[in-house]
Amino acid sequence: MTVHNFGPGPAVLPDSVKLEITEAISDFHGTGIGILEISHRSKHFEQVITLAEERIRRLLLIPSEYAVMFCHGGATMQFSMVPLNLGQGYQELPEYLLSGVWAVKAFEEAQRLVGANENGSSSADKFRSLPQILPVREGAPYLHYTSNNTIYGTQWWPQPQAAVPLVCDASSDLFSRPLDITTHAAVYSCAQKNFGCAGLTIAIVRRDLIERAPSNLPVLLAYRTYEKHQSLYNTPATFPIYVAERYLAWIEEQGGVTEMERRSRSRADIVYRCIDENPIYQPYAASAYRSLMNATFTLPTPECEKQFLNKAESAGLVGLKGHKLLGGIRASLYNALSQEAVVNLVTFMTDFAKRWDS
Ligand code: PMP
Repeated sequence: MTVHNFGPGPAVLPDSVKLEITEAISDFHGTGIGILEISHRSKHFEQVITLAEERIRRLLLIPSEYAVMFCHGGATMQFSMVPLNLGQGYQELPEYLLSGVWAVKAFEEAQRLVGANENGSSSADKFRSLPQILPVREGAPYLHYTSNNTIYGTQWWPQPQAAVPLVCDASSDLFSRPLDITTHAAVYSCAQKNFGCAGLTIAIVRRDLIERAPSNLPVLLAYRTYEKHQSLYNTPATFPIYVAERYLAWIEEQGGVTEMERRSRSRADIVYRCIDENPIYQPYAASAYRSLMNATFTLPTPECEKQFLNKAESAGLVGLKGHKLLGGIRASLYNALSQEAVVNLVTFMTDFAKRWDS
């Protein structure tokens, strides 16, 4: 039985990428040693990281005024790095849009480290919608937002606009659609959802702002360190960078981020249609804010949800349990998820709804 992975991250990888990395583990490009064993200072790895950066720049049309950096510490470390590097020494504090748990975590870390102001929040409706953007105080360094709220299944369409540069946590939708980098001071994303595996986070940051950061930051929390040493100040996450390079090559071959968006839309349409046609499934996110990445819904009772998850697992559909804070069901529909997986899911859901009703 084919197993389809709807997990929220670490998440499904393209089959061809899995094959390539499996081969590279025993012999990387005919070197006789595996990708896990090669030095980060070798010319072979240099090629990998250079190619990865080139692909990121091409896919997102990143101008040269922005640095592309390969960081450690997950997206969560960016919750600290962003305010430390980009939020100090301005007339006003950075502002944050609170659209879910991750956004709140980013905000609280900024408050703790440098101070921050809430801009808008959708906590009153339990993050079923997205916040209204309020005018940003003049002199604020940036407005931070989370482009896709992985837990609740909401997504910004279009991206927010503000009179100050934006900072985007794009951890669960980077490379799934085009993004205008030029309105941003920074964009960051962990790799384990749409373009790689856990252990790597990329940060795309305007170079002039990197230079303005205080000089006394811990060395690995300063963007300056990564920029100056091409992300090779210390040993980077060599294997996750290799996996991302291969995954990004796959995205390019498939037609880039516009094609990823077309596929995401097609996957999400099929799933939401099934939810809307079967009253047993109650969507969590308000319909105007639905995410193409994570479809969230509940069933009438906890017992019914348990049965749904058990039966889905027996049918080879795994990773559908909602986040522990929210419960319910969440189908994550990232770049590498096949059309076949989606068709199997809705066939299962339709069948489950019929049996439950009868
Ligand atoms: N931001 C968002 C939107 C996320 O979905 C996640 C993880 N699921 C994080 C941040 C935290 O990422 P990490 O576990 O890589 O620190």
